[in-house]
Amino acid sequence: MLEVKRLSCAYGDIMAVEEVSFTVGRGEILGLIGANGAGKTTTIMALAGLIRPVAGRVILEGKDITSVPAHLRAMCGIALVPEGRRVFADLTVDENLTIGGIRLDKKADQRNRERVFQAFHRLSERRSQLAGSLSGGEQQMLALGRAMMAEPSVLLVDELSLGLMPIAIDECYRVLRHLRSEGFSILLVEQSTERVIDSSDRLAILDTGRLAWTGTGAEAIREGAILNAYLGETEVPSNS
Ligand code: ATP
Repeated sequence: MLEVKRLSCAYGDIMAVEEVSFTVGRGEILGLIGANGAGKTTTIMALAGLIRPVAGRVILEGKDITSVPAHLRAMCGIALVPEGRRVFADLTVDENLTIGGIRLDKKADQRNRERVFQAFHRLSERRSQLAGSLSGGEQQMLALGRAMMAEPSVLLVDELSLGLMPIAIDECYRVLRHLRSEGFSILLVEQSTERVIDSSDRLAILDTGRLAWTGTGAEAIREGAILNAYLGETEVPSNS
């Protein structure tokens, strides 16, 4: 589905991401983890077209989209759920969803909206509420819902759990797993490892801009030293 080939990104002279390669298959969650400054956000921004890589290629469903500008990537099937959610605070839940599906005809808009409300009952009860007055967890649900509206094949999710209560994080992860079962491909960037290890099919660990390790969550738990080496002290979930 999504193939990232030897991606390199720089800010001036500083290389933030160097020759990073990975794939995200259809109906797969790939968890991209790493310590502060490892290059996770830079990678996701490059995939969304918001940062121009200095080298490497991004292939989506066999098509090279490396030079497709950000505003056209949505039409290619890539949707970004940015860190900090960034919903339109002065618009209602319904209006935020309308913006997510702005390129759709009325029928598709309706279908996707129903899908979002089925996934997030809390949003369906708050359709007319201003997004700015939603709780942090509800805003994250809305950010996910808005991305779902565009019918993407790949969802790029940056720091899903940042600043959220555990119950809201559980809810958002539940929906991600549901989306995976519907065939979405999901690249999930997280700093907190516990849930991402649990929910991802595979993990990719970045270390100072380079891909340091890939494997399954179970392998990461078995080789706990790996997580400790790249992420510092981390709460490794038990295998039970
Ligand atoms: P965090 O988890 O702390 O958000 P990250 O893994 O997402 O970190 P990035 O934000 O991608 O890492 O940063 C990778 C490197 O690029 C870091 O060394 C960072 O200082 C640098 N960097 C990021 N944004 C910029 C920028 N706008 N200008 C210059 N350097 C930047």
